[in-house]
Amino acid sequence: MTDTDCIFCGIVSRRIPATKVYEDDAGIAFMDIGPIAEGHVLLIPRAHVATVDQLSPDEAAALLRPLPALVKAVQAATDCEGVNVLQNNGPIAHQVVQHVHFHIIPRNPGDEFHFNWPAHAYGPGRMKQLAEEIRKNL
Ligand code: 5GP
Ligand code: ZN
Repeated sequence: MTDTDCIFCGIVSRRIPATKVYEDDAGIAFMDIGPIAEGHVLLIPRAHVATVDQLSPDEAAALLRPLPALVKAVQAATDCEGVNVLQNNGPIAHQVVQHVHFHIIPRNPGDEFHFNWPAHAYGPGRMKQLAEEIRKNL
C-alpha cells in the first residue's frame, strides 16, 4: 500500500532521502525537515494510511511500540525538559502530509511553540450525553 504522490511513501521506498533514527517492520522514524525544535522526529507507518482512525488496532499497536524508546532517546539527545507527542489528524487539524505521522517535539522553557488551549466548561448534562455517544460509537 503506497501512494506515488505521497512524500512519506517516498521516504519509505527510499525514493526521497530522509535522516532515519529508527525502523522496523511496521514503521520508520526520521528527522523532521522543518523542525519546530532541534531533534523534532516523525514516526510513520510503512503503509500509506492517511489518518490515525484508519489504522487497524494491530497496525496502531505495532507503529507505536517504539514510541516510549523514541521519546526517551530524543530527550536524552537534546537534553530537553519534556516533549509533545502530537498527531495532526485531518487538514482542519493542521495535517499537511496525508500519511499518518506522530511528531515528537522537544520542549524547553521559553521555547517558541505555543498552544492556544481554550478550555471550556460543559453545560448541564452535556458531558455525560457526549460520553454516551462516544461509547456507542466504539
Ligand atoms: P503535519 O502538519 O502534516 O502534521 O506535519 C508534516 C511534517 O512533515 C512537517 O513538520 C514537515 O516539516 C515534515 N515534512 C514535510 N515534508 C518532509 C520531507 O520531505 N522530509 C522530512 N523529513 N520531513 C518533511
Ligand atoms: Zn503515504
